[in-house]
Amino acid sequence: MKCPCGSEKNYSECCGVYHSGKALAPTAEALMRARYSAFAKNQMEYLQDTTDPQTLDQIDEEANREWAERAKFLKLEIIHAEEKGTKGTVEFKAYYNVDDEDFIHHEVSLFRKQAGEWFFKSGKIKAEKTK
Ligand SMILES: [Zn+2]
Repeated sequence: MKCPCGSEKNYSECCGVYHSGKALAPTAEALMRARYSAFAKNQMEYLQDTTDPQTLDQIDEEANREWAERAKFLKLEIIHAEEKGTKGTVEFKAYYNVDDEDFIHHEVSLFRKQAGEWFFKSGKIKAEKTK
C-alpha cells in the first residue's frame, strides 16, 4: 500500500515507521507528512504524541477525530519547508473530501524540536478559495 503522504513509498517503509514508533521523524517536513498520514489512517494517538504538550490543551481531540473519520484524504502538497535550529516551518496544502465536496486546507505549521524529537506547535490557516 502506497503511503498517503504521497511519497510513492510503501506505507510500511514511510510514515508507518514513525506511526509504529520504530523511528522518530527526522525533519519537520517528515513529521508533517507523518501527521497527514496519521489523519488519513486514523492514527489519532500519533497526532497526540507529536503535538507540543502546551498546544495539546487547546486542541479539541474529539473534533479532530470526528473530522478524520468523515474526511477522505486525497493529497498532500508541501509548498515550503525550512528549519532553523530547533524551529521548523512547513507550509502545505491538504486536499480532502467530505460528503462529496472537495476542500483544500492550506496551513503554515510551526514545529519545535526538543531532545531530538520534532513536535507540532501551532498552525496558521491560510484562506483559500476553491473555485
Ligand atoms: Zn509517508
